[in-house]
Amino acid sequence: MVAKVLESDIGLKPCPFCGGFELHIETDSEPTSTVQVECDTPGCEASGPHGKDADEAARLWNRRAPADRIGKRPL
Ligand SMILES: [Zn+2]
Repeated sequence: MVAKVLESDIGLKPCPFCGGFELHIETDSEPTSTVQVECDTPGCEASGPHGKDADEAARLWNRRAPADRIGKRPL
């Protein structure tokens, strides 16, 4: 199982968990491959909902990161 990093034209909002901007979009090269956004912050490494392509994964990720949460840690 080899993970592949993808690109999307959709800008990613910061991680809803750590507020970090170190994010990448990744897919597994399998027949049932799914795409998800992952946080690269050490100790966080949150991953977003699975989408069918990079754009969908980015949209799903952004839905979980409302603007009013930017820069705030979840309680
Ligand atoms: Zn994070």
